[in-house]
Amino acid sequence: MPGVVQDWRVELVETYPDLFHPVGDPATAQGWPEVGDGWRDLLERACVRIRAAVQADGGAFQATQIKEKYGTLRFYWQGALSPDAYVKVEEVIDLAEARSACTCEICGESGRLHDSGWLVTRCATCAGERRLVEIRLGFENVRIEERYIADRRIVRCRRYDRDFDSFVDVDLRSLDPEHLRFLGIEEG
Ligand SMILES: [Zn+2]
Repeated sequence: MPGVVQDWRVELVETYPDLFHPVGDPATAQGWPEVGDGWRDLLERACVRIRAAVQADGGAFQATQIKEKYGTLRFYWQGALSPDAYVKVEEVIDLAEARSACTCEICGESGRLHDSGWLVTRCATCAGERRLVEIRLGFENVRIEERYIADRRIVRCRRYDRDFDSFVDVDLRSLDPEHLRFLGIEEG
């Protein structure tokens, strides 16, 4: 149909059948992106990277749910990958989720978390009357992950750099210990 602009979600699912595994209507694919247009770019970038990791590995991947929750992207998947490829794919998804936390879900410009009864990530223009959620000094774009590897507790603290689309390690000791305790993170 001339003059009809195809939804980017259809295009994404059809461009990456190896990741979405659509059967028939792309909109019925499990991983159909239920997010705003502003996150199109970060999802396209994630798909390019996931495909590269999966193809290099020869394993299988399926996006099972892509949605927004508490203002940021959630990207769930299932598959069968080597441990190395698994780590690569998880890193790609961490980057996409971190980018969503500072990218307006409506227009794709730089954004911040806003609250109007529910949390959304918006630029100042798209935020309208919503209240900006204050982030404790030093904790902007910081992700803290706790993992247990062979009973050993590993705390990883990284800051997402939107300009370089990469993570920078942050020394936990440089952050306000009181706020860390508030977040339930003990130094160690
Ligand atoms: Zn915006």
